[in-house]
Amino acid sequence: PSQLLSGKRGLIMGLANDKSIAWGIAKACADAGAELAFSYQGEALKKRVGPLAEQLNSTIVLPCDVSDETSIDALFESLEKEWGKLDFVVHAIGFSDKNELRGRYVDTSRDNFQMTMDISVYSFTAVARRAEKLMSEGGSMLTLTYYGAEQVMPHYNVMGVAKAALEASVKYLAEDLGKDGIRVNAISAGPIKTLAASGIGDFRYIMKWNEYNSPLRRNVTTEDVGKSALYLLSDLGSGVTGENLHVDAGYHVVGMKAVDAPDI
Ligand code: NAD
Repeated sequence: PSQLLSGKRGLIMGLANDKSIAWGIAKACADAGAELAFSYQGEALKKRVGPLAEQLNSTIVLPCDVSDETSIDALFESLEKEWGKLDFVVHAIGFSDKNELRGRYVDTSRDNFQMTMDISVYSFTAVARRAEKLMSEGGSMLTLTYYGAEQVMPHYNVMGVAKAALEASVKYLAEDLGKDGIRVNAISAGPIKTLAASGIGDFRYIMKWNEYNSPLRRNVTTEDVGKSALYLLSDLGSGVTGENLHVDAGYHVVGMKAVDAPDI
């Protein structure tokens, strides 16, 4: 895919380490010729994100805590100074108190509900509003969601409710920004063992269940997600907006347990 993103500049938000979905997407974009900037949350992550960015020849590595409006403003002011324009943004950010990613959804606290919605949903809208200003020649925005938005998944709880809201906001953003040639899409990724996923109760079981029951009989990798992201971020996806692309080995089409699935 060497030329798909050549001459394009993209911001990757949500890189924590080399297991992050953001890393799979960043590598695919860099391979396709994109120039990348990265944002990271908090000083502790800087020493992880810096060397990874360097591997992809990126020199723009900026802090941004998406729960803080001034922090998002500062990120986009720096980007405007560095680049002036932006072609794409990847929002691979989500957060909830892991004590509430187990047990019952009905027990979700008001504080964690609000924080989960703020960081995992509102932040994409807040980022989109700033990014729009730098996308005078059109652009592509992408966020990450999960099937727990559409169907009840064990332990996903408040995060499922947040992802449902995120998926709805993708559609509203697509309508708002479409007139300016900006496309807004989501990828619904199958379960992948990342830092964020390790907070979800019984995650290993969810992985096994997906492996045994998805049509492809395997789990997806961050490389799988990266390749599909490339489609949505590049001109290959030029006619696609408001879409939720399932990159889940087909799991979302399955209605019953596969006959060859072992008991787990
Ligand atoms: P990850 O832990 O590698 O990435 C999550 C990122 O969110 C981290 O980089 C973290 O720093 C960032 N973040 C959290 N709070 C933030 C804040 N206040 N400000 C800025 N950044 C903040 O895990 P991941 O699995 O790669 O997650 C990326 C996205 O993919 C998330 O939206 C997640 O819900 C989604 N997703 C993950 C899976 C999975 O199974 N891993 C499946 C579907 C969707």
